Amino acid sequence: MERAAAPDCGAIGSLGFDSLGAPDEALVERLCEMAAALRAPERLQRTPAQVRGYFEACRARMRPNPFHNWNHAADVAQFAFLLLHRTGLDRCLCDEQVLGLFFGAVGHDMDHRGKSNAYEINEKTELALRHKGAAPLEAHHTELALAALAESELLDGLPAERAELTRSVVRDVIDATDMGQHTEILRECKAAFRALEELPRTFFSVSPFGGDEPARLLLKLLIKGADISNPSRPAAVAERWNERCYEEFYAEGDADRAKQRKLNPLHDRDENVIPRSSVGFIGFVVTPLFKELRKFLRAAAKMEGGEALDAAVAAEILQGLEANKQLHAERAAALAAVPASPPKAASDDAPSPLEDPCVEDEMAVVITLVAAEPVPEPKPEAGAETEAEAEPEQPEERAGEEPAVEAAAGDALGAPPDEAAPRPTEPSTNTQ
Ligand SMILES: [Zn+2]
Repeated sequence: MERAAAPDCGAIGSLGFDSLGAPDEALVERLCEMAAALRAPERLQRTPAQVRGYFEACRARMRPNPFHNWNHAADVAQFAFLLLHRTGLDRCLCDEQVLGLFFGAVGHDMDHRGKSNAYEINEKTELALRHKGAAPLEAHHTELALAALAESELLDGLPAERAELTRSVVRDVIDATDMGQHTEILRECKAAFRALEELPRTFFSVSPFGGDEPARLLLKLLIKGADISNPSRPAAVAERWNERCYEEFYAEGDADRAKQRKLNPLHDRDENVIPRSSVGFIGFVVTPLFKELRKFLRAAAKMEGGEALDAAVAAEILQGLEANKQLHAERAAALAAVPASPPKAASDDAPSPLEDPCVEDEMAVVITLVAAEPVPEPKPEAGAETEAEAEPEQPEERAGEEPAVEAAAGDALGAPPDEAAPRPTEPSTNTQ
């Protein structure tokens, strides 16, 4: 059958895959290719057209945001595919894990509105009110992804138990994209994978479900990695995603400013310095996650059933992250130079940009913003709030992921955090 030529967005197994600028339908086509490589139709007892139906249903519910759009959904799904396929995990994990992760990735941001959970909660949007007690965006995306699964009848060829298992993976992985859980998930992974030899021998050999938490954690690590993978792409691709991310952030900052809310510093177009916050994000958020994945893959390759695993792609990802971090660090250092001073001649003993204490300080700020977060309320009455009573900064979200939603411990002005606001978090201390 004649088919339109695929756009030049790169091979489906490549880190250079570039979904930006590709027509929506072309991305559906590429997702179908990935599904075929994962043997999704066979595993689900569905036709390729039925599998395509799920992608179409997801696409139909994406909004044209600068960042959280259909291109992002395809980008994250491709990275999840890459992590599954090039590591060999797609041949070790069970069908429900592989397919739940991949199809969950496609639907993980359905109907995203381009604003963070914090914004939704502060605005008391219909979404926030409907999903009180949860991260509203992730709850909404999950609901829609499950509806798309049902609408496309994607799981209808499976026995009820296996279909439910697949849905449970979809729920888990979409929930894990809430950045409010970032620190906790990474900590749990480190603990669970610390002694891989103690993991159940069935980890790879049979369905690892039925209480095997390490297997669930691995899936969360994979989806999270895919969701914040932009800075590991080649610089030309990573840059465009970064620009879009901040375009969306700054629009939220502008909206908060208009409502006289305190801005998350990363959303403040007047104050934020993108190269600096990018260095911090890559160094303190993304890199530790992929180091953990590399550690897991290397160790798991020695486990029964994991012999075919290959950690090479994790090393390639880490190289990409380092290259882009260095690029941002050099820019940050250039921006930090005082214009009135004559430029210093480069010398061997000059500190590298990454050793610049100013850049290090910024990193610490960024990681705190990404991982910790109270939800401020606008001042109800002028003069009623003292400096000491002021709420801390607002939660944050970053490149591809939703902000952490945190409950303020209680507002001195009688505006307690909504029950909608949520799980306690703590600032990340990742420094590896
Ligand atoms: Zn996302």
